[in-house]
Amino acid sequence: MPDKFDVIVVGAGPAGTSCAYVCAKNGLNVLLIERGEYPGSKNVMGGVLYRKQMEDLIPEFWKEAPLERPVVEQRFWMMDKESVVQFGYKGLEWGMEPYNNFTVLRAQFDQWFAQKAVEAGVLLINETVVTECLVENGKVVGVRTDRPDGDVFADVVVLADGVNSLLGKQLGFHNEFRPDEVALTVMEVINLPKEKINDRFNLHENQGCTIEIFGDSTKGNLGTAFLYTNKESLNIGVGTTLSSMIKAKLKPYDLLDYLKNHPMVKPYLEGGESAEYLAHLIPEGGYHSVPKVAGNGVVVIGDAAQLVNAIHREGSNMAMASGKMAAEAIIAAKAAGNFSESSLNRYREALYDSFIIKDLEKYKDAAHTFEKHPQYFNEYVPMLNRAASKFFTVDGTPKRVKQKEIMRSITKEKGTIKVMQDMYRAWKAVK
Ligand code: FAD
Repeated sequence: MPDKFDVIVVGAGPAGTSCAYVCAKNGLNVLLIERGEYPGSKNVMGGVLYRKQMEDLIPEFWKEAPLERPVVEQRFWMMDKESVVQFGYKGLEWGMEPYNNFTVLRAQFDQWFAQKAVEAGVLLINETVVTECLVENGKVVGVRTDRPDGDVFADVVVLADGVNSLLGKQLGFHNEFRPDEVALTVMEVINLPKEKINDRFNLHENQGCTIEIFGDSTKGNLGTAFLYTNKESLNIGVGTTLSSMIKAKLKPYDLLDYLKNHPMVKPYLEGGESAEYLAHLIPEGGYHSVPKVAGNGVVVIGDAAQLVNAIHREGSNMAMASGKMAAEAIIAAKAAGNFSESSLNRYREALYDSFIIKDLEKYKDAAHTFEKHPQYFNEYVPMLNRAASKFFTVDGTPKRVKQKEIMRSITKEKGTIKVMQDMYRAWKAVK
C-alpha cells in the first residue's frame, strides 16, 4: 500500500463512500478507512433511502442495489393513548421507475455501495480506526490509525466519521455536542412474513409504507417514532433529544417497549420475531450546529457536519450530496494543485448554495421551539384526538354545534390567546 494518497476518506457510510466513489471515478487515488468489520456493520438507519441523491451517483441503481421496498405511502400519526389522528399520501407513481425512495437495511446496502467504490478504484480497509488527524504547519497531511505503522498521508483528508466526529473535535471544528443537539434513537428489526406485512399495511408486492408517529410515542416529549416496511421485516424505532430524555427521565429501551405495546402499534407487530436491536445518535442541532466544514487539507461531510433535516427524516441523502460536493471541490483542488482552506471552501460554497443548508436554514429554530414548548406533543396531540373523536361520533348533535363545543373546550382548556400564540410560534418555526 502506498503511504501517500490523493484523498483519505474516514468512514464508509453514505457520505464517505459517495465522496470516495466520485473521487476515484475522476482518477484520484483514494483510501477509504472503515472501523467496522465491513461497511454498514456499525450503521443504523430507520431505513428510508432517497432515490435522487443516489441516482446522481449511480444511475438506475435500483436495478442492482439490495433494496427492500419502494415506498408508495407515507403516513403521519398524531397518537394519543388509545387513539390516533392520521394523514398521509399514497401514490402509485412512487412504486414505478424512477421511484421516490426505498426502505433499505444498511448492513446490506452500505456493503454493496462500498463495493461499487472499490470497483471504481477505491482502496477500502475495514477494521481500522482512525485515531487522529496528522497536522503539519496548520495543514492536515494524513491520519494515524490503530494499525502498527499506521500513519498514512494524503493531500486531502475527508472526515465522514458520523455523528460523534472525534476527529472534527480534535481539529477544533466543533465542541462536544450539547444534549439538545443530538437525539438518541433505539430501533428493532422484527421479522414478519411478507403476506402479513402486505395485509396489515394494505400493500401489494413490492410496495412499501412508512409511518411517522408523534405524541404518545415519545410519552409527549419532543421526538418521533417510526414504523417502516421491509420485504420480510419491519423497522420500528423511537427517539428523543438527549436533553428531553434526561429532563423526562426516559430510558430509551423502556420507550421502545412502550411503543411496541401501544394498542395502536401492537397489532402491526403481532407474531413477529425480533431479529436485531440497535441504538444510535442522530445529529439534530440543524443549521446552528453545522461546524466548520473545510480547512487546510480537510473537509467534513454528512453526519460529521451535522447535516440532518430531522423534520423530514432526511440524513442519508444529505450525506451523499455533501460527499459528492466535497469530491468535486477536491477534484478542482487537485487540478489547481492547491489544497488550502480557501481552495476547499468551494465545497462550503456549494453546500451553502444547495438544498441542504437551505432546508436546515428553513427549520433553524424548529428544534429549539419544540423542545422549549413540549405542549405541541403532550397537550395539542391529545386535544386533536379528543376533537376528532367528538366530531366524528354520530350522536344527533348538529355539526355546527359540535364545532363550537370543540373550539370552546380548546380555548377553555388553554385560553384563546395562549392557543393563538402557540399556533403562531409553531408556524414561525417551520414556515
Ligand atoms: P454514518 O452512516 O454514521 O457513517 C459513518 C461511518 O464512519 C461508519 O461506518 C463508522 O463505522 C465510521 N467511522 C466512525 N469513526 C471512525 C473512525 N475513527 N475510523 C474509521 N471509521 C470510522 N436518514 C435517512 O435519510 N432516512 C432515514 O430513514 C433515517 N432514519 C434514521 C434512523 C435512525 C435510528 C438513525 C440513527 C439515523 C437515521 N437517519 C436517516 C440518518 C442517517 O442514518 C444518517 O444521516 C446517515 O447515515 C449519515 O451518513 P454518514 O456517512 O455521514 O455517517
